[in-house]
Amino acid sequence: MQKQIEWSKYFNFDQEKKIKLLKSVGAKKIYAMALMPIRGPHGFRKLDYEFAEKKLEVNEIMNRLEDYLFNVFGLVIKDTDGACVWDTEVGWNPTNRDILGEFCDAGKERNIQIMVAFTSMNDAYQGSLHPERVSIHGRNGEKLGKKYKKGDISTHNAYEMRVDLPEGIAFEDYQKKIPFLTSEIDLKIGKSRDSRGSGYIPTESFMCPNSNHIDYLIGLTREVVKNYPIKAFTADYIRYDGHFTDLCACSRCVTKFKENYGHKSKLLKGKEWYEFKTDTIASYAQKLQKTVKNIDNTCLTGWYSQVGPKNLVTIKRHGQDWSKLSSILDISIPMEYPYLGGTRDDGFFWGKVGDFFFWYFLRNMKKRAHEYKGPVLAVTNSVECSVKEMLKQMRSFDFGLGIALFKYFGTTEDQWRALKEYAENEIGLENLIFS
Ligand SMILES: [Zn+2]
Repeated sequence: MQKQIEWSKYFNFDQEKKIKLLKSVGAKKIYAMALMPIRGPHGFRKLDYEFAEKKLEVNEIMNRLEDYLFNVFGLVIKDTDGACVWDTEVGWNPTNRDILGEFCDAGKERNIQIMVAFTSMNDAYQGSLHPERVSIHGRNGEKLGKKYKKGDISTHNAYEMRVDLPEGIAFEDYQKKIPFLTSEIDLKIGKSRDSRGSGYIPTESFMCPNSNHIDYLIGLTREVVKNYPIKAFTADYIRYDGHFTDLCACSRCVTKFKENYGHKSKLLKGKEWYEFKTDTIASYAQKLQKTVKNIDNTCLTGWYSQVGPKNLVTIKRHGQDWSKLSSILDISIPMEYPYLGGTRDDGFFWGKVGDFFFWYFLRNMKKRAHEYKGPVLAVTNSVECSVKEMLKQMRSFDFGLGIALFKYFGTTEDQWRALKEYAENEIGLENLIFS
């Protein structure tokens, strides 16, 4: 058995916050499994509305989670495509189903709390509907072999998601349903993280966080918190697109930046610019917090934290200031996916690559944990890694609240068995029961 890391000595926030949070959840530990309903029945590289509409078996899923001792279920209610899988008057729901409502009902019957994950800035559908709200490039550049110019909107081919045509449906007809689908096809499946999908390539758009997209997101949030008995509302993609350093240079952002930091302040670089970026993201967090708590004071809020080098990546690229965001929202959720960088399942070399990332992720968290000003629940992957790698991550990244797993579909039977044993022997049933 590997040695337990004493995380409490790396963190530096008021422990009362953690006690209060667990009291609100009602159990001593959180053991959560996440599901992305529109990514099909296997990994997470497909966009599959047919599956969500016709084949997703809510009761079967919740039975399994109950059998395997999970006490929290995390549903991705809005993914990077922009689909809203609830009964919505504000958003776009291509599944013709109230998937969130079905899971809430099933959770009530089983004593499983529902936590929702809500993709914020990354929204392909809104990008096609409102190109004027998409982030704007501030420099010329190239992505996946395609050139873009300063002033272009940041709508690009998606990295990881691919689309198969449903049987008997012509491409043109399917494009009416998915307006952000291109006619380009990716045939190869590679082993690096960004090249594991095959099929038609959709586009992706990171929306400008100073545009009306924010009002749209707040409207959706209001709808969800008002109408569904969820325990936590967590914001994913609460950030800029990390693939670029020149976003967002639209006139809204430039004007606001100059107003706040003076006309001499430098665009796209310098302390002021990055401060402006992190403030922009924090201001969205603030709006989210207010919206949720005004409707339901007992509903927890959270944000997904990109891990990695502080200045180069999380501040400059993503605009995520850990201290700012964790001071506003209740739970910080670092995404600890080292073995998505490579797994032993793909051979010795890729196992070594994964082990290197694991070492790096651990070291990075030890160095940066003190930046969080509130409780931290890590999410780690069960999909696309071995049983051993999965357990290693779960044991290492339990920062005191428990652990969340990503994701339901793609977890192997061997992993499910290991997950149950972990709950029984390492978390302890007494810690998972709601009081
Ligand atoms: Zn902008």
